[in-house]
Amino acid sequence: MSKILIIYTGGTIGMVESEDQQTLVPFDLKHILEKVPELHKLGAELDSVSFDQPIDSSDMMPAHWAHLAHQVEVNYDQYDGFVILHGSDTLAYTASALSFMFEGLRKPIILTGSQLPIGRIRTDARENLITAVDFAIQKIADEPVIQEVAVCFEDQLFRGNRTKKFSTEAFDAFISPNYPDLAAAGVNLNFDHQELYRSEKTAFRLTGGFDQRVAVLTFFPGITEQLVLSVLTNESLRGIVLMTFGAGNLPRHPWLLEAIKKAVARGLVVVNVTQCAKGNVEQGKYETSSGLAEGGVVSCGDMTLEASLTKLMFLLGQSEDADWVRDQMATNLKGELSIR
Ligand code: ASP
Repeated sequence: MSKILIIYTGGTIGMVESEDQQTLVPFDLKHILEKVPELHKLGAELDSVSFDQPIDSSDMMPAHWAHLAHQVEVNYDQYDGFVILHGSDTLAYTASALSFMFEGLRKPIILTGSQLPIGRIRTDARENLITAVDFAIQKIADEPVIQEVAVCFEDQLFRGNRTKKFSTEAFDAFISPNYPDLAAAGVNLNFDHQELYRSEKTAFRLTGGFDQRVAVLTFFPGITEQLVLSVLTNESLRGIVLMTFGAGNLPRHPWLLEAIKKAVARGLVVVNVTQCAKGNVEQGKYETSSGLAEGGVVSCGDMTLEASLTKLMFLLGQSEDADWVRDQMATNLKGELSIR
């Protein structure tokens, strides 16, 4: 019988109305599990642990990612898989961050949550939790089918570091714009076996450490030199994500390329992520992105912002060597980047 550890971090799934009935606040794990007695019919042995203080995922920090990863590490041998209950708002960041932390992962780590609290009449929480556990217990020839960090929402299973929260309203709140779904839950659980991630490493290992000295600079028509320079010359930063237009384009102000080059020369890792959900950065395709690659800006290709940012924080946490970080940013580490 499969053994699954459910880890509860907080989020709408377990929330209840506050005393004044005005807002939703995180509640405890017991409250969730007693609402889903069917879980026990899946034929798996389920254990659960909870954050001491469940949180709204807007409060999620790299220290929480480290705590979650540690929970998986210390329980890795005793369990066949892990299901993490998480608020949907920053779930894609946590899924991405966790994906970079593990080497040689051979078991599923599936994140799920919900748009409505588990106590509400039309809740999506019950289905999401049951489906996530069902995905986590699937095996072929005694091997877990899923051996990566994945996200389960509304009958779909996605690679975690390819996801984005797309809707505040719909039950299918997540998309994986640049990578096929890993599986769909219909009458049967249908996996797209070709798309599943398999680690080449044999030993299971957790690497921790994120450097928070990063910034995301979102461009818009009319952005001022003053604002851009305040970020690019900021002494406290080690990495900057430029959120660019279309296929990685920026305004052609001469001062902009100069400032980027100076930041790179100072040792900052500057990367280029498109504001478009779908598609990829192609530096040099348009005049408005020519000079960026030469200026030392790394293209994030088709990586999501969530994957690019957490990867940057993770790599900066591993090394002082900016060239190594730039090289790794452009390398597909955990299926987060399509190499073309
Ligand atoms: N604010 C909530 C959270 O992310 C929303 C949700 O769970 O869906 O924790």
